[in-house]
Amino acid sequence: MKVRTCEECGRLLGEGVSELCPQCYDSLDADFDRIRSFLDQNPGLSCNEIAEALDIKVRRVLRLLRSGRLEGLKVTGLSCARCQQPIAAGVLCPACADTVRRELSSLDSPLRIHHTPGWGAGAWGR
Ligand SMILES: [Zn+2]
Ligand SMILES: [Zn+2]
Repeated sequence: MKVRTCEECGRLLGEGVSELCPQCYDSLDADFDRIRSFLDQNPGLSCNEIAEALDIKVRRVLRLLRSGRLEGLKVTGLSCARCQQPIAAGVLCPACADTVRRELSSLDSPLRIHHTPGWGAGAWGR
């Protein structure tokens, strides 16, 4: 059995629990509420500006964005890691996500993923 730990605090996770422990989920929930009410008053901010203004780690803001929970809010500053086209959530635009998926599944061709600044570890498989 695979041992899984919380991505935020490293605590051991029980089976069937997703990537965060209940405590970190709660604090992420609290951050989410703060971000949302902040965005209501200050629409159109980038992830970095939100993180700085609220003293929340950028990766937390990004985690919430990637999970789709901030969808519909006017967050700017997210762009596709490959073609730089603005996207609402995630790391890649749908077209590039499709291309990468095809490249990854093609066993004959070597991986040709271009590393872009801001392409953080953990961009995959979330
Ligand atoms: Zn935790
Ligand atoms: Zn793209």
